[in-house]
Amino acid sequence: MLSVKNVTKTYLITKKDKTKKVTALNKVSIDFPETGLVFLLGKSGSGKSTLLNTIGGLDSFDSGEIVIKGKSSKDFSQSDFDSYRNTFIGFIFQEYNVLENFSVAKNLALAIELQGKKATKEDVDKLLNQVEMLEFAKRKPNQLSGGQKQRVAIARALIKNPEIIMADEPTGALDSTTGKQVMETLRELSKKKLVIIVSHDREFAEIYGDRIIELKDGKIISDVTKKHVDAEHTKSGVSVVENRYIHIKKGQKVTKEDVELIVNQINSNSESDTIISFNEKTNKTIKNVEFIQDDGSKQAFLETKQEDIKTKTYDGKSLKLIKSHLKFSDSFKMGAGALKHKMGRLIFTIIMSVIAFTMFGVVDSFACWQRGTAVYHNIEKTNQKVISFNKFKKGEWGDENAKATMADFDALKEKFPDYTYYPMVSLNGGGYSSAPTVKLEGNSNQIYFDSSSSNPAKTPNISKAIYVSDVSSLGFELTAGRLPTADNEIAISKHNWDCMKENETLKGVTDITKVSIKVSVSYSNSDDNSSYKKIVGIVDTKDDLSKYLNMDKSEISNKRYEVEQALQVYSYRYVFVTNNFLNALTKETENSYGSSSYVYAKFGDVKINYGTSYRYFKCLDFETKYQEYLADHNTKKTQYEQQNIGSQYPSTAKTKQEFLSADYFYENSASYYGFGITDTTRSFFDAEDKFIPLKDNEIIIPKDYLSGVINYQEDLTKGVKFSIYEDYDNKKLIKEFTVVGVNSSAYNNRSNIYASDNISSEYLAKLQGYDGFVTVLKGNSSDKNFIEYCEKYNSNNIRFVVQNELTQTLNQFEYIIMSLSQAFMYVGIVLAIFAGLMLMGFISQSINYKKREIGVLRALGARGSDVLGIFLNESSIISLINFVISTIATFIVCTLLNAEIIKQANVNITLLSPGIRQLFLILAVSFGSAFISSSIPVMKISRKKPIDAINNR
Ligand code: ADP
Ligand code: MG
Repeated sequence: MLSVKNVTKTYLITKKDKTKKVTALNKVSIDFPETGLVFLLGKSGSGKSTLLNTIGGLDSFDSGEIVIKGKSSKDFSQSDFDSYRNTFIGFIFQEYNVLENFSVAKNLALAIELQGKKATKEDVDKLLNQVEMLEFAKRKPNQLSGGQKQRVAIARALIKNPEIIMADEPTGALDSTTGKQVMETLRELSKKKLVIIVSHDREFAEIYGDRIIELKDGKIISDVTKKHVDAEHTKSGVSVVENRYIHIKKGQKVTKEDVELIVNQINSNSESDTIISFNEKTNKTIKNVEFIQDDGSKQAFLETKQEDIKTKTYDGKSLKLIKSHLKFSDSFKMGAGALKHKMGRLIFTIIMSVIAFTMFGVVDSFACWQRGTAVYHNIEKTNQKVISFNKFKKGEWGDENAKATMADFDALKEKFPDYTYYPMVSLNGGGYSSAPTVKLEGNSNQIYFDSSSSNPAKTPNISKAIYVSDVSSLGFELTAGRLPTADNEIAISKHNWDCMKENETLKGVTDITKVSIKVSVSYSNSDDNSSYKKIVGIVDTKDDLSKYLNMDKSEISNKRYEVEQALQVYSYRYVFVTNNFLNALTKETENSYGSSSYVYAKFGDVKINYGTSYRYFKCLDFETKYQEYLADHNTKKTQYEQQNIGSQYPSTAKTKQEFLSADYFYENSASYYGFGITDTTRSFFDAEDKFIPLKDNEIIIPKDYLSGVINYQEDLTKGVKFSIYEDYDNKKLIKEFTVVGVNSSAYNNRSNIYASDNISSEYLAKLQGYDGFVTVLKGNSSDKNFIEYCEKYNSNNIRFVVQNELTQTLNQFEYIIMSLSQAFMYVGIVLAIFAGLMLMGFISQSINYKKREIGVLRALGARGSDVLGIFLNESSIISLINFVISTIATFIVCTLLNAEIIKQANVNITLLSPGIRQLFLILAVSFGSAFISSSIPVMKISRKKPIDAINNR
């Protein structure tokens, strides 16, 4: 079954000097029989172990071949050697090499599981019984004596029923009695298997061996087989053995002839003494040692002849190698079991890596900060249901107000069909909580609510006009009066009414119909009485304001910031106007150009979508403004002169032309002089200094529109046309203008178009839309997607921004948060690497520590992949624990930090919202580093010869 042919192996003594070699095996050839006990005998260093390891496939050799069942090792791959060990060979080591982490029974089960078979308790028990170890089945190896461990090792070698058992000095570490027991067991096994034992003990070899092969300096110096030698019998029956003994049976009568033989034998023996023994005990000892049988025949070791070696013939094709296969569950159990034994270090590592991973998670959560998400969390926490969104466009300096059209709402509706979009127009310029002017009927004294009142809760605000027909759909409820039916009527929110009532000047007014409120929008001339709307009803918008309204003055001044921010939400409340009036505000008439209207300038191919981005300004009364300007200028000049600092006053004469183009605000005055109009192609004042109004075909456009035109001044003098198309692509022209000037103001009206009053209301204002919309949230997770979507710029650089107390604050801090979160991204990467390295350190150290174990598993027949599987499982468990704890910790830490930020910043903002990304990243880093740190060292060790791994080389 097994032959060794001309095997030679040399070792390098030092790795550096390749010339210094030891020949451990020198052209060794042996044919092994099918069964029997073969001893490899020799002094220490003679090459026995090397030979055994080579035959067993644990070690490589330089030349020669090993033939197994007719197949040559030359046709073997490394994994064939693994399978060969797995299939045919049971190893028994001098140092037992039982796996310390597993119970006796598991050590056995493992060997059989490596063959892809199921380890039954019966099989295991049967073998443990055979080596008399059954009662120790559940013990761990460290609770066993050496002999017991060796018997476990023998049982382990046997359990897969190998055809060959190889043992390297199996009794070397045992006392003589135990040693004998082990030898007896092996002898018993050799009746059915080939047992090869390495030993330096000649006595054992001669007692137990069937064949003894003696080695010296890597060469075979003798090869003897125990044979039966028949005795020569005299006529009377006295037997002569090998001419060395004369054996006379009990009760045998001796003849004269026999006596002569005995005398001759004694006389011819000059080399040693002759003992004639009549003592039964002495005789027994001699018989035992010399293998003398009762019939006088004896066993003797004689040179091995080819015919002594009983072998079958193999064709090499019948060789069936079983690839080792470790089931996942076993591999998992082994991995998990191994962890129990280094709890301390494991816990320490996990604590440290959890800290690192948690920091990473938290930092990454911050790095992933998204305004939309933060806004959503705020809304969720403060339980806001009805939310208004304003439309913005991404501009050079951030958000720019933009008008929304029904087309915008339709686009949103396509994405989020479950939401209803109630159009909304910002009043009072759409700005930020300015208080309204109110007047009482029959009393022309207007009451102005100062928004900087010491008590912000008492400052009303009207800010968003919505259709009265939407009141009930929004979940609002009329609580007093009625809803408006005429265009000069209005219903206001209960909160607004509560605020108004609280104001000194309105104290005692209970009849709401006595009060009018001024409603204006940015582009309309709001100075006339027609902009006062009669309050006819109060609508409860269901905001819970008690928390703020019940605060006393000192509390409010302590928490002024918080209260102000919070009340922004509620003061940004709605007024309800007739559909007709709101339509007028939006100029959304039947023929609305919507967002698909284009204004096209004929010089250069500039195509601008005005419907969504620009504000329109009707033509102002230049003349009056000019007079005001001059008066103010002169007043200032006089003041300076009276203070004798006249020389410091800008003495440049303010001409009409300069007035048109002037671009500044007067000190202490909100009134704005100058229109930023430059590059005019005609005069705007006549000889009497009277303003010449714009004609209906004249227009002044923002300079921005001309940014693509190189010689625009020259073009202007030639007469530039500016056209509005309803459908630009189909050249459906609506109106054509001549450009008579350019608005190059640097201030916020730079995007204003100036045209005649007629044109302004007829065409340009038609492009005006809503400021945004109001919607009722669903109160479920879809709100998150919805808000995140709205808050993010879409592909057209448009976004809808939630208008509440948080977004007011966010607008100020967003930039800081954004830059911080970018910085944190790098911190996160560093932390992730650190955390990964930490985990890798632990795992690879633990694997190195287990090099020997890996070698033993390999010796048992495990392939590299099985070993990798076990360690991967072990490290996966560590990763899993780490992942679970780190994720939980990340979420907890983020929650705590958020709470602290909310407390400190006085605003309900969620800076850290860990999500799927962090979950995934922690998972990936954790398992990734575990995978790398297990695979690399295990592969390295797996590539080693098993014997080197076992001997920790
Ligand atoms: P034995 O088992 O008979 O005591 P070995 O087979 O272990 O002898 O060793 C045979 C020879 O090879 C000895 O000279 C030993 O020093 C040498 N040898 C064994 N293993 C190595 C090794 N890994 N590296 C270098 N020399 C070795
Ligand atoms: Mg040895």
